[in-house]
Amino acid sequence: STFQELGLNEDLLNAITDLGFVKPSEVQEKAIPLLLEEDKDLVALAQTGTGKTAAFGFPMLQKIDIDSRTTQGLILSPTRELCLQITNELKNYGKYCKGLNVVAIYGGSSISDQARAVKRGAQIIVATPGRMKDMISRRMVDISKIQYSVLDEADEMLNMGFYEDITDILSHTPEDKSTWLFSATMPKEVSTIAKKFMYDPTEITV
Ligand code: AMP
Repeated sequence: STFQELGLNEDLLNAITDLGFVKPSEVQEKAIPLLLEEDKDLVALAQTGTGKTAAFGFPMLQKIDIDSRTTQGLILSPTRELCLQITNELKNYGKYCKGLNVVAIYGGSSISDQARAVKRGAQIIVATPGRMKDMISRRMVDISKIQYSVLDEADEMLNMGFYEDITDILSHTPEDKSTWLFSATMPKEVSTIAKKFMYDPTEITV
């Protein structure tokens, strides 16, 4: 299939052309139509390098209201490096989405700079759990209007001991949001978190 057939809009298709992506990867083919069609929870078993960032990034970019400055999308990832990589990819994918503001939040860097960036109006925040929790408790960020949350590399985040932080963060988001979980492996801890935070998720494996 083509990206056009998956239901992506013109702004995203133009960015895809610029990036030189010829056809959707398997996880994109499975996830994108599903996530665009209805607000459902998703559990995706997918390794790094499969194109999973675009699989959740494109639907999120298409579904958020870019005319609003409210934070609507939250992506949690295990490391600063991954956080910056996802932010970069989302900025590339959304280069024609006028007014889009994606902000990265991670430890080891100025918290006040990050708070200022959020204050300017970020529709999407990409964060590591520790710093995110810290900024929530300091009321530097408001995630009470989140509609789409992504747990990326969920197995890694749990391995690194972020269970409590993730639980705390998600408790500040609305009940009726959609949650999309991506993981390379599905140990018991990951299914536990899926059961706890997700409602009747669709499951895909690539
Ligand atoms: P990820 O699995 O999200 O880390 O993506 C791995 C790499 O594949 C990234 O550098 C993407 O820019 C690239 N990529 C994602 N989707 C496609 C696609 N459909 N065609 C070609 N490259 C892609």
